[in-house]
Amino acid sequence: MITSEQYLDSLRKLKAKVYLFGKKVDDVVDNPIIRPSINSAAKTYELAQNPRYEALMTARSNLTGKKINRFTHLHQSTTDLIEKVKMQRLMGQKTAACFQRCPGLDAFNAVDSVTREMDDELHMEYHKRFRDFLKYVQEKDLVVDGAMTDPKGDRSKRPLEQTDPDLYLRIVEKKNDGIVVRGAKLHQTGAIASHEILVMPTMALMEEDKDYAVSFAIPSNTEGITHICGRQSCDTRKLEQGNIDVGNCRYGSLEAMIVFEDVFVPMERVFMCGEYNFAGIIVERFAGYHRQSYGGCKVGVGDVLIGAAAQMAEYNGVAKASHIRDKLIEMVHLNETLYSCGIACSSQGYPTASGTYFVDLLLANVCKQNVTRFPYEIARLAEDITGGLMVTLPSEEDLRHPELGKHMQKYLRGAAEVPAESRIRMIRLIENLTLGTAAVGYRTESLHGAGSPQAQRVVISRQADMEYKKKLARVIAGIEQE
Ligand code: SF4
Ligand code: FE
Repeated sequence: MITSEQYLDSLRKLKAKVYLFGKKVDDVVDNPIIRPSINSAAKTYELAQNPRYEALMTARSNLTGKKINRFTHLHQSTTDLIEKVKMQRLMGQKTAACFQRCPGLDAFNAVDSVTREMDDELHMEYHKRFRDFLKYVQEKDLVVDGAMTDPKGDRSKRPLEQTDPDLYLRIVEKKNDGIVVRGAKLHQTGAIASHEILVMPTMALMEEDKDYAVSFAIPSNTEGITHICGRQSCDTRKLEQGNIDVGNCRYGSLEAMIVFEDVFVPMERVFMCGEYNFAGIIVERFAGYHRQSYGGCKVGVGDVLIGAAAQMAEYNGVAKASHIRDKLIEMVHLNETLYSCGIACSSQGYPTASGTYFVDLLLANVCKQNVTRFPYEIARLAEDITGGLMVTLPSEEDLRHPELGKHMQKYLRGAAEVPAESRIRMIRLIENLTLGTAAVGYRTESLHGAGSPQAQRVVISRQADMEYKKKLARVIAGIEQE
C-alpha cells in the first residue's frame, strides 16, 4: 500500500490529457479547482494508514494473501460487503464529498464475477486476464475509474440505429495483439483522480450490437484519451482568497467526460470483446454494487449535514425548540433508513461462481431508490433550520473588509457566545452541501448516479416476484390450496 503523498506524486507523474474551462491542465494535483477532489481520493490512502481506521479500510487479498486497501478488494463474504458500506459511510463523514474511488471497486467486483461466468461457458481467458490486472492494481494500490455510462444520443434508438455510431463506445478495429476503440463515457466520477480506466458496456445488447460489447482496462494517460472536467455550481469560489465561501475547506468531488479517439487496447487488457449476451449481466452487477455503495457514502455525507444543521440550530439559539428537535430526528431517521438498506442488501449477499460475493439485487435497488428521495428531504430540512441567510449572506471579502467587517460581526451574530465567523462558516458548509459543489454528489448524484430512479424501478419490478405474492393472497383468501 502507498501513502497519500505517494498517491499525489503518482498522479503528478501520470500526466493524463485533462481539460478544464477550455484549457489544458498540466498538473491536476495543484489545480485549485481539481485539488479538493484529489484530496478526497487521497483520504482513502490516509485512513488506510491510520491505525484507528486500518481494520475497516484494508483487507487481505484473496489473490495474493497481502494486505491491500479495501477499495481494491474482491468481496469474499457478506462481512466484506458490510465492511464496504461502513467504510464508505466513514469516508463520507471525513470528506463530506464524493471520494472518487468506488466506481473502480464496484467495477472490479462486477467484472470479476462476469468474466468467470463467461470463461466457464465460452472457454476464453478473460477471467485470468482480469485477475492479472487486478493483482497489478492491488500491488500498486491504484485508483481505477469504473466507466459505464455512454452518451446514448437518441434514447429511442439502439446503438447501431444512431445517426452517429460512436454515441456508444465501440470496437472499430480488431488486431492480432489488441483492439481499437472509439466513443466516450460521461459523468465519470474519479476520472481525474484515477491511474487507470476500467470500461464496461452501458446496457444489455443484442447480436447486431456486438461491437459495443466491450470491456477493458487501460492507463488514463493512454494516447487518444481526453478528459474534459465537468463544472459545478460555485466552483470558481475555489479560486478566491480565503476558505469560508467554499464551505468545505479541503475536500470536493469532480466528474469528467472521457473521450476515446481510436484508442489501442492490448489484448491482455481486454475482458469482453463481442460477447453481447454478457453485457446485460455486467451492467446489472455493477449497478447493483454501486446502488449498495450509496447506502454508505450518502449516509456519511448526510451525517455531516445533520451535524451542521444541529450546530446551526445551536448557533441560532433555537436548539431547544421542539419543532427543530423533531426535524433533526426526522433527518436522522431518513439517513439511518438509507444505511439500513445498504447493510441489508450486503448481509443478504451471496457468492458468485468466482467466489466474489454479490449483493441482494432487490434490496440494493430499493436502497438506491430511497437515495433518490431522502437526501432531498434531509437537505430541505437542513435549509429550513439554517434560514434564508444561506442564500443572502455577504462574502468572506466583506467579512475581512476594514469597514464592512464590523457590521458583519455585529449583525450576523446569532447566540451571543458564538462568533459571527463560526455561524457564517456553518451556513456556508450547509450551502455547499445543498446548493454548491458538494450538491453534485449529495443531491443530483443521489438522483441520477448509479442509474436514474426509473432504472431501479425496472429492476425492482423484475425482482418483485409478483406471481408468488398473488399466490399467497389466493391461498389466504381461500381461492386456492397451498
Ligand atoms: Fe463513491 Fe458515492 Fe462518490 Fe459513487 S458517489 S464514487 S459511491 S462516494
Ligand atoms: Fe456515483
